[in-house]
Amino acid sequence: MSNAVSIQNVCKLYNKIPVVNHLSFTIESGEMFGLLGPNGAGKSTTIRMLTTLTKPSSGQIQVAGYDVTQQSLQVKQCIGVVLQQISVDTDLSVWENMEFHGRMHHIPNPKRQQLIKQWLEYVELAERRDDLVKTLSGGMKRRLQIARALLHEPQILFLDEPTVGLDPQTRRRLWEIIRDLNKQGMTMLLTTHYMDEVEYLCDRIGIMDGGKLIKLGTLPQLRQQHGEGLVMKQIGDRWEYNFFPTLEEANVYLDRQADKTGMMVRASNLEDIFVELTGRQLD
Ligand code: ADP
Repeated sequence: MSNAVSIQNVCKLYNKIPVVNHLSFTIESGEMFGLLGPNGAGKSTTIRMLTTLTKPSSGQIQVAGYDVTQQSLQVKQCIGVVLQQISVDTDLSVWENMEFHGRMHHIPNPKRQQLIKQWLEYVELAERRDDLVKTLSGGMKRRLQIARALLHEPQILFLDEPTVGLDPQTRRRLWEIIRDLNKQGMTMLLTTHYMDEVEYLCDRIGIMDGGKLIKLGTLPQLRQQHGEGLVMKQIGDRWEYNFFPTLEEANVYLDRQADKTGMMVRASNLEDIFVELTGRQLD
């Protein structure tokens, strides 16, 4: 399978300080890749480099086979971007926002009108087409951002914290949209703070910390490496965690304890592994 994204030995320095530090990984065509990390890990900077918004200080980045610095125009034609901050124009209507983006990408009519209609229907905003964006809810604005990012039919979609600040129902609706697009063959890279989002959506997970990739793999691979069973022990107001290769081994360990007070066994999850690796919990 060909690589949709290739990052090789990339650094990004701000004021001579590396915020992305010798980063290398690839994303296969059709893959749903999740980039996870605490605040300041360098996730947004990585997305900004991948989407041509900022240049790497050193190293090579290819997106859809094009070099992001030498062939940024071609890269822009192949990608859709949904950034953290709401980037739609709130003083324009839903349709006008789509129309503007379609013209920017030189999509000719009648194809432009047909695509706008199609994607607004897809994200269930067709009935709000003439409403000003400022009258939409946060979830609707995010759906509009997604529809707009899809208008020029990109091969790869970048989503930077797509569900931050949304209520649980709206998050799940967005998950369905994201999953459906991926099933249709779209390659996706998403950054998030939410472990459940990664567990539900992503084929492969990269964990970043301090500008570096500290872990890469599927969830089953990460669980296998760190231990699939967990013994938790409450000591005062904090919990001590011990990983075991399997849930069975964790249970055997618990059974052998004379005093089981404050102890419990469960299967490990991504959050346990994240905390183990970064020493931090996400907010
Ligand atoms: P994340 O998305 O993982 O929270 P970011 O990529 O936003 O991390 O930020 C990584 C680090 O780079 C942070 O310490 C941040 O303050 C710094 N940074 C990001 N953008 C700039 C910039 N334009 N100028 C200076 N420092 C920046």
